[in-house]
Amino acid sequence: MIVQCYEARSDNACMSTSAELEASLQPKIAATIAQLQAAARDHDRVVYSSSLGAESLVLTDLIWTHAPQIGIFTLDTGRLHEETLSLIERLERRYGQRMQVFYPDPAALQAWVSANGINGFYNGIAERQGCCAVRKIEPFKRAIAGAGAWITGVRREQSSTRALAQPVEIDQANGGIAKISPILDWTHEEVWHYIRSRRLPYNPLHDKGFPSIGCAPCTRAVEPGEDSRAGRWWWENSESKECGLHPRIRAKPAA
Ligand code: SF4
Repeated sequence: MIVQCYEARSDNACMSTSAELEASLQPKIAATIAQLQAAARDHDRVVYSSSLGAESLVLTDLIWTHAPQIGIFTLDTGRLHEETLSLIERLERRYGQRMQVFYPDPAALQAWVSANGINGFYNGIAERQGCCAVRKIEPFKRAIAGAGAWITGVRREQSSTRALAQPVEIDQANGGIAKISPILDWTHEEVWHYIRSRRLPYNPLHDKGFPSIGCAPCTRAVEPGEDSRAGRWWWENSESKECGLHPRIRAKPAA
């Protein structure tokens, strides 16, 4: 078992495990950078959809450092934690870059809340997916309109449906553009080693038991050992737990 060593410590055992982890991660970092740069070279416009979760910090660091032609955007659903919004500003300050923020269409949001109530997403899967459609899917489609490819931070470890993902897929649901997942094979330990060792800003909710962070009313802390997505839409069964950006039916792998 690899013992994580995030803080600067002087005991040699800890330093060597951290060094071993860094050494084993180096080829994955190089491959991810190569994939990002190839995407920027091979497509007219490439965008990265940042969820502001742990994986996003890795990709934001690699993109703004090694492939700045890729535009980074995120979605402010109107129901995010304050800690998540603050993270946008902390990232922008660190890199001296601006992250584009997309918001729900005001008229569509007004209509949805009028029909379903302010917290109507708790009433059933259809209502929850309807809220995600207004607050996430429509703004996402606006954000990637005209792009040749979009980058995701999906990892195979995250869920049984994500385990089926391919590094490059054709995203038929979004006009047949390329959907590229460059950190598909990174492990949870590797993601956190990268964040800690480079002292990247991260959402403090991760230290309070939130491995995966979405909207505040739809995210809760999980118990140690629970699935990393167990805190998302916890009142639904695992089969329905996606907002629609990463559908259960996988897109076609690209050649
Ligand atoms: Fe609405 Fe919850 Fe989906 Fe956020 S995660 S868009 S609040 S249903």
